Amino acid sequence: MSDKIRVRFAPSPTGPLHIGGVRTALFNYLFAKKLGGDFILRIEDTDQNRYVEGAEDYIVEALDWLQIPFDEGPGKEGDVGPYRQSERKHLYREYADMLLASGNAYYAFDTAEALEKLRNDYEAKGETFSYDAKNRDSLNNSLGLSEDEIQQKLDAGEDYVIRFKIPAGESLQFRDMIRGGMQIDTSILDDKVLFKSDGMPTYHLANIVDDHLMAITHVIRGEEWLPSLALHMLLYRAFDWQAPKFAHLPLILKPVGKGKLSKRDGDKMGFPVFPLEWKTEDGSIYNGYREDGYLPEAVVNMLAFLGWNPGTEQELFSLEELVNAFSLERVNKAGARFDPEKTKWFQHHYLQEMDEGVLTAQFKKYVEAKGFSTENMEVGVLVSLLKERATFMEDLWEQGHFFFEAPTNYDEKAAKKAFKDDTADILANVRDIVEKVEDFSAAELSKQVKGWIADQEIGFGKVMMPLRLSLVGEMKGPDVFEIMALLGKKEAINRIQSAINVIKS
Ligand code: GLU
Repeated sequence: MSDKIRVRFAPSPTGPLHIGGVRTALFNYLFAKKLGGDFILRIEDTDQNRYVEGAEDYIVEALDWLQIPFDEGPGKEGDVGPYRQSERKHLYREYADMLLASGNAYYAFDTAEALEKLRNDYEAKGETFSYDAKNRDSLNNSLGLSEDEIQQKLDAGEDYVIRFKIPAGESLQFRDMIRGGMQIDTSILDDKVLFKSDGMPTYHLANIVDDHLMAITHVIRGEEWLPSLALHMLLYRAFDWQAPKFAHLPLILKPVGKGKLSKRDGDKMGFPVFPLEWKTEDGSIYNGYREDGYLPEAVVNMLAFLGWNPGTEQELFSLEELVNAFSLERVNKAGARFDPEKTKWFQHHYLQEMDEGVLTAQFKKYVEAKGFSTENMEVGVLVSLLKERATFMEDLWEQGHFFFEAPTNYDEKAAKKAFKDDTADILANVRDIVEKVEDFSAAELSKQVKGWIADQEIGFGKVMMPLRLSLVGEMKGPDVFEIMALLGKKEAINRIQSAINVIKS
């Protein structure tokens, strides 16, 4: 095969994909695209006990929403598929057999109960049992048995697993592209199971075999896989295959305190740790960035900065700009602290950047979904008036809902201040002025009403406060005259009249 860069994102479909997983996918994608390589999605679903219905679709939908497309994967067949390990089952046994034949693996017949007992006995002594070079010879396995003896056991249908035989007492050296050189004494490693009694490979075997068969050149994955790296290097050596290069991405840390970012942190502090909403079988809901109103551009930009930086002051990056700027050399070893406020900052920026026509169309839909008509409203003008202070679509509604629904009551505190004995008369005057304005623009309305206030020599607030309250219901919103112009003459007058009625009643 050619030396084309090929990377893979290899999630296990065990539930909704955490944003840490999305970050791994993103960094793989950026690395591949920067170097003109391929980004592959492989579903690692060999552990049937942990398989969760819908999790694979969730992964694909999340990548799709964030516009991180894979070149090969389920539903996008390339030359080295299938891309679901459950569909590659038939393939792995042969590789386990190769390791058995070369003496790098052995059959282990120990029952689950026997191992459990050993673990408990060790624990009672304050030690930890490990199936390793120190004690493998005293356990129930094929080491020391003749071919015939092994065959007899297999023919008798004895349950077994296949374990990797870790070479004892070796100082193993290898490199990680982010962490640099590492050295490990193989005596701390245990003889991991490669192949299980149910006929399925374990993660370690399937992962290495597939990375090899899929011609993966770089493995970029989360730090939690670093402890497996020594075993993986030994497996490559045992197969006599060239190992890919490895890069282990830093952990994503809680916004405050110690440890990894968890769902609980999100729940406590009110931010999602999943790209999309996820509903569990028991009906609980995991919040998602998409459903919480975030734009994919904001989420991608935020994720890129979790462990990477461009080495400049620039913080705003489109996906394309990230592809150009990305390099593994600029990925940190140290854990990356998650900052929900920064995510909002990115979100605010990308909402401002959004094409106003698109934003307007989306806001229209949003308002209509709430059951209000947008027919008589210039929603585009409204959006441009309110946008600057909005981070989410929801904020546009929060700040502008009164354009679509007349106030049904008035903020109590504000009404106490604004509605005085002479307010009904003042508002009646304003109503009459507004009635006569022909060119119903904010500028003209402002000129007429302010002119009248000046003539009357009354305080500005005495007019403007009740006027705003009559139109909005509270002391918020853009310029009063802009509001009136947008509401139109009829609606503006209706609202002023309603306030007069309430004050008089
Ligand atoms: N299936 C593993 C996971 O769920 C893949 C780890 C790797 O990338 O090697 O993260």
